[in-house]
Amino acid sequence: MQNNETAPFWETKTLEELTPQEWEALCDGCGLCCLNRLQDEDDDTAPIYLTRVACHCYDINAGQCSDYANRFKRVEGCMGLTLERVAEYDWLPETCAYRLRHQGKPLPSWHPLITKNRNTVRPHGMHALNPVLESDDLELEDYIVDTFSDDL
Ligand code: SF4
Ligand code: SF4
Repeated sequence: MQNNETAPFWETKTLEELTPQEWEALCDGCGLCCLNRLQDEDDDTAPIYLTRVACHCYDINAGQCSDYANRFKRVEGCMGLTLERVAEYDWLPETCAYRLRHQGKPLPSWHPLITKNRNTVRPHGMHALNPVLESDDLELEDYIVDTFSDDL
């Protein structure tokens, strides 16, 4: 058993206590937050539907944003996660590492911080949904998918 001095930061620290580097490392790279969502624009209490249409700036083959450093300039709707937003965004996937730690839950066994392998996230992230890249001729309604709810 590990004590607090030897246990990794993602087990011992709260989100508030993470350094900027640890905050970045916590992301599992699932890409689920880079998928388009649909909601009735006149009702912000309406259900939010996940689609398998990835942001046009996402590199599906590489499994990451194609321009992470400039993402906020490139895509109007791209919003970085902050402490406040993790608490606020109830549409984040249940597997999102920030959501889990905000709820005081452990990371799943497939998280790359635990496996030391970025590819272990693929069966649990965007790639499991057979994503397509956003384009003008796609109707998002045709690409609605179920969220992962029991994947931890
Ligand atoms: S859903 Fe969470 S863990 Fe997955 S890519 Fe987005 S921020 Fe990272
Ligand atoms: S700009 Fe990059 S990080 Fe932002 S939603 Fe698009 S792919 Fe994801």
